Amino acid sequence: MNFSTKLHETAKYAGSKIAYYFMDQSSTYAELNQAITQFASGLEKLGVKKGDHIALLLDNSPQFVISLYGAFRLGATVIPINPIYTGDEIGYMLDNGDVKAVVALKSLIPLLDQKQTSLPNVEHYVYVETDQKTEDSDSLSNYSNLKSKLKSFTSLLATGNLDFQEPEIHADDVAIILYTSGTTGKPKGAMLTHKNLYSNAMDVSHDLKMTSDDRIINVLPMFHVFSLTDCLNAPILSGATMLIVPKFSPREIFRLGKKYKPTVFFGVPTMFNFLYQFPEGNPEDLESLRFCFSGGASLPVSMLRNFEEKFNVVILEGYGLSEASPTTTFNPLDRERKPGSIGTSITHVENKVVNEFGEEVPVGEVGELIVRGPNVMKGYYKMPEETKRAIKDGWLYTGDLARMDEDGYFYIVDRKKEMIIVGGYNVYPREVEEVFYHHPDIVEAAVFGVPDPNRGEAVVAYVATKNPFITVEQLQAYCKEHLAKYKLPSVIEIIEELPKSGTGKILRRALKEQLVEKVAL
Ligand code: AMP
Repeated sequence: MNFSTKLHETAKYAGSKIAYYFMDQSSTYAELNQAITQFASGLEKLGVKKGDHIALLLDNSPQFVISLYGAFRLGATVIPINPIYTGDEIGYMLDNGDVKAVVALKSLIPLLDQKQTSLPNVEHYVYVETDQKTEDSDSLSNYSNLKSKLKSFTSLLATGNLDFQEPEIHADDVAIILYTSGTTGKPKGAMLTHKNLYSNAMDVSHDLKMTSDDRIINVLPMFHVFSLTDCLNAPILSGATMLIVPKFSPREIFRLGKKYKPTVFFGVPTMFNFLYQFPEGNPEDLESLRFCFSGGASLPVSMLRNFEEKFNVVILEGYGLSEASPTTTFNPLDRERKPGSIGTSITHVENKVVNEFGEEVPVGEVGELIVRGPNVMKGYYKMPEETKRAIKDGWLYTGDLARMDEDGYFYIVDRKKEMIIVGGYNVYPREVEEVFYHHPDIVEAAVFGVPDPNRGEAVVAYVATKNPFITVEQLQAYCKEHLAKYKLPSVIEIIEELPKSGTGKILRRALKEQLVEKVAL
């Protein structure tokens, strides 16, 4: 069984079921399945074959779903890329990823046109006309480098045949290559096979008891694997309905809540924070939710409690990473949920906490979290050495520090690389951030270490507050009440809003670079 055959089955037995709503338009499973076949066939007519690489530079949209599943049906490998990346970042991924065809927002055509001369392997550019700005005003004939290679998404679909002959897909074929942000050097392409993606979506669907009655908000960016597996593949395998949202806004989530009665909301912590803080948010609009699910970054316990109390719905925190397709643990639906914990291992996946020799540490002790299961990637694309460092004896080393309690619940302490060592003592940024989140005036907090001539490293905190009168001195006094001396931030900066990644994770690293630059001036 693979995504393509499963979708054929759903289209056959539940063809009239709504697969998704997007901007108040809907499509049934039968219609979606047909569009996917047409797209696969259209691609094949262009000359794209099984095993070729196709990059998607798209926002959350039906075209994303059709392109992804169309490529799966053809046996091509998809490389999803954040469309807000710079030309250099995109160019690197298209080149390193040996991309043959690109499906992109029409607004990206000028940028791709500039890059084209350095990307001789890209033979086709399919543009999607979802962004209204460039629709009529900008003629594509200006883009001389790309001209002969350009085709619109709609015309590609129109060329596709429904009697398309599907190639055989093997479990070990690479379904997607995901470029992970990579804390050092260039991003690495994690190769996820059909088995990796399919098993993780099935296990998520099973453990979260997803059914065709579910209506799942899909607002996390589809180019990220959290959305791909949990908000797209798992709902599709369950025959559920997706509510596709192009861009997160609390107002839109409440509107969808009222109109479509969603049953599940997947988000990153910043989204829960924005929903909680939104002054016009009516808790009744979200009362249809069975549960919420938070992942991607640690969810401060105070934020979890505030949200649950206001909206009367449970948030299950989970954990994952691109290299594990991504989901590895979450708080169970039908057993105890522990705030601050990332939960227990999901079906078919094993987790353990080990020391530097790879030996399991006793319950309660901190070590590196490692993962094994059908969801663990095949390796990094064209990087065998990096692959060997990441996967040892079948176990994926996550680079995250964690501990496990006596009931098998895991707690992320922090990223191994982000631990701060102050005068020989370990300081975990997350612990200091939790203290800030407990403060009633603090909306967001990010803590990191900077070099310090006396103590090796010093703790720095950036916070955003809703009280314009609060002072750094007051915050320092507050920290003193709650933290041991060596954990106290030497510097506290108050800023309007913290920078975030495309997925909504707070970018500690960008703040650190900003501070280093400021000091150098
Ligand atoms: P990515 O590969 O972009 O999905 O990022 C994976 C990383 O996100 C992990 O290695 C963790 O550092 C972080 N992460 C994901 N979920 C959580 C969580 N619930 N708590 C803390 N960190 C998390």
